[in-house]
Amino acid sequence: MSARHFAQSYPEAREKFAAAAAAAGLALERHVHPRARGAEGEQLSLDCARLGRAGAADLLVLTSATHGVEGFCGSGIQVALLHDAGFLARARSSGVAVLFVHGVNPYGFSHWGRTNEDNIDLNRNFVDHGAPRPANDAYAEVHPLLLAEEWPPAAEREAAIGRYIAERGEFAFQAAVSGGQYAYPDGLFFGGHAPSWSNQTLRQVLRAHGAGARRLLWIDFHTGLGPYGHGELIHAGRDDDAELARATALWGSELKSIYKGTSVSARLEGLLAFAAYDEVPQAELTGCALEFGTLPVMQVLQALRAENWLRRHAHAAAGERAALRRQVRDAFYCDAGDWKERVLAQGRQVAWQALAAPA
Ligand SMILES: [Zn+2]
Repeated sequence: MSARHFAQSYPEAREKFAAAAAAAGLALERHVHPRARGAEGEQLSLDCARLGRAGAADLLVLTSATHGVEGFCGSGIQVALLHDAGFLARARSSGVAVLFVHGVNPYGFSHWGRTNEDNIDLNRNFVDHGAPRPANDAYAEVHPLLLAEEWPPAAEREAAIGRYIAERGEFAFQAAVSGGQYAYPDGLFFGGHAPSWSNQTLRQVLRAHGAGARRLLWIDFHTGLGPYGHGELIHAGRDDDAELARATALWGSELKSIYKGTSVSARLEGLLAFAAYDEVPQAELTGCALEFGTLPVMQVLQALRAENWLRRHAHAAAGERAALRRQVRDAFYCDAGDWKERVLAQGRQVAWQALAAPA
């Protein structure tokens, strides 16, 4: 049964990951957050388990919960792979070391939000913060529409969003909202004004584990875009045709590109995978995001507005808070057997393909 690998809360996911790593004979490396706490007051941590020798030339990195609540999916895949004797044996015989990084954004995972303890979207946070930040005029236009004063939002506000979509289309709205912005710390898809704790911690992990790597393969698990249960492979890296060609050779021609406009995702700046260029500069990066569909995109965006409203209204009644949190979790994690089966089948396949990478 696939469902047993998936959890209902961050602490449960973390326990399952620790138990699966132990069952596979792997040590757990824990990086505890120095200040943020979980929804039940628990400690938060980014946890790693490594299969394969230190200094291996080929390193496969598997990351979950870059977007907090999306971690229910990625954690389930990681736990399933750690219990998959065939996968572990194949990794050992292939010589590819596998680094499982669990809970990149543990705060969002525990609180059922997409952003971190500072409302930062980690997959927009890996920009050069010393350089002028990317502008996003399209976001500036929709920001006042998105941030509701009351919940549910007033009818006029929703009508204005409806007009925007009627005039320019749903993808234009999605791209304006989700492309990433650096000007509104209380807004949606905020990339931050400095490297977050998760950013710094992940860099430290990559430096330590990637020291001898010549080739770095990376799969970052996401949810929230695309058809229910369908995993879209999206090239993760910079706009580089050689990189895209390598990723396509590895994962197949289904692989999409945010730079070519073929993906369900808008074009983004500051991707997590960009850390590889700084921290493992000697290695050739071949990376992808595996993005699983959940609910229709407008429902997902509505859930993110609810998450954002909750963050700005800390004194919302307990009942309302619980209902909105649940709405966010449901938008990024379909707690259903058929969805989990499909997620694991595709997650496994993409990880297996990475082990078959030609040297
Ligand atoms: Zn995501």
